[in-house]
Amino acid sequence: MSIEQPGLFGQPETKKKESLEKSREEQYIPFIPGIKPEEAYLELKSLGELEQRAKSCRQCRLREGCQQVVFGEGKNDARLMLVGEGPGMDEDLQGRPFVGKAGQLLDKILQAAGLPRQEVFIGNVVKCRPPGNRLPHPDEVRVCKNYLEAQIRIIKPQILVCMGSLATQVIIDPRARITITRGKWFNRQGIKMMAVFHPAALLRNPSYKRPTWEDFKQIRDEYYREGK
Ligand code: SF4
Repeated sequence: MSIEQPGLFGQPETKKKESLEKSREEQYIPFIPGIKPEEAYLELKSLGELEQRAKSCRQCRLREGCQQVVFGEGKNDARLMLVGEGPGMDEDLQGRPFVGKAGQLLDKILQAAGLPRQEVFIGNVVKCRPPGNRLPHPDEVRVCKNYLEAQIRIIKPQILVCMGSLATQVIIDPRARITITRGKWFNRQGIKMMAVFHPAALLRNPSYKRPTWEDFKQIRDEYYREGK
């Protein structure tokens, strides 16, 4: 009969690391519905590290058809975070989010609302441009939203704005309909969330401009109330 002897020097380092990793995952409550803690990049502590990881990502087919990964940009500790759907042609070329026509409109809205772009963080659900600007497929969203989860965890915004249906369904509720959900506050883990129309939808349908302005006034008021 052999009896397991306790190690002379306690747990080996690799074992310690594994059990630390395990307990971190066990304690972690994901922000985005459907995220598995073991896929949420818990080992990465800064946006810089996460960006490096995303830039070498090949986990879905979108990377084959785009120029570059558009990680998102803004303040590392922004109090306000805005999330769209995915990069378009201009974003793919420049490597920056919301720089095309829809982005220019978003800049105007932010400026009019007194929310400086350099103070916020802007990103997307998927980081690589879907070909022909099609909607990202569910399997692409499923893998890429892990980066978004990690961005939210690291930035810890007070207010999270979901621009358009996809971001709203991924972050707030998979059953949400933008026309019904927009303009209302939701609260999760201390973060206030609101859905608004995507700026590209405003370009196609100018009647969305008025309600969007009303939504951004609410966001501005909340932002400055939170900032006091
Ligand atoms: S879209 Fe996201 S998951 Fe797909 S390759 Fe790009 S970074 Fe990776």
